[in-house]
Amino acid sequence: MISPKNVKRIARKKEEENYAFRSFLKGYANPKTFDKKVNRLHRELFANYDCSKCRNCCKEFYGSIPVEDLEKDAKYLKLDVAEFKRQFLEKDDAGGNYITRHKPCDFLQPDGSCLLGECRPRSCKEYPHTNKRDRIGSLLSMLENAEVCPVVYEIIERLKQDPDYEAFDEDFMEEFREMMSECD
Ligand code: SF4
Ligand code: SF4
Repeated sequence: MISPKNVKRIARKKEEENYAFRSFLKGYANPKTFDKKVNRLHRELFANYDCSKCRNCCKEFYGSIPVEDLEKDAKYLKLDVAEFKRQFLEKDDAGGNYITRHKPCDFLQPDGSCLLGECRPRSCKEYPHTNKRDRIGSLLSMLENAEVCPVVYEIIERLKQDPDYEAFDEDFMEEFREMMSECD
């Protein structure tokens, strides 16, 4: 597996190839079969991966706390809601929820654990969402996450080697480049 420190740099070098692969999958992949492949790779790769040694997702994003979690989270930290907000959060203008004051997330601990423990937001527990359905509809966010998450990066690289997608080759890349240059 690629090192968490290198994943952004290496994924960016593959940006063109990854966007071409997305275009290929949109045109040729069966959505249900694709979900099965992505979900299987998610299970296999995360089974052997220690996320506490990475935590790129907690370093690259602000923590996002839904309004309905405020009371539960404050109680978990033995604070009242006002103090919890004062210490850690500010209003997220875009979504109406709260986000942490800083990035890396303020709840990230030096040992890679989360100060909120099992109370951490659902969106954190579910990241990077590669065990969900309709991954064809979420390819753009998968490509973005490949710059953050070593497991997502690896899932995409393994899919490129899948025999069902062997038509994703140099010829396809050439056609993709020509198509893109016509759009410029
Ligand atoms: S989910 Fe991905 S980015 Fe987050 S800690 Fe695990 S491997 Fe790293
Ligand atoms: S709330 Fe916890 S799990 Fe979520 S980003 Fe912050 S440190 Fe990571």
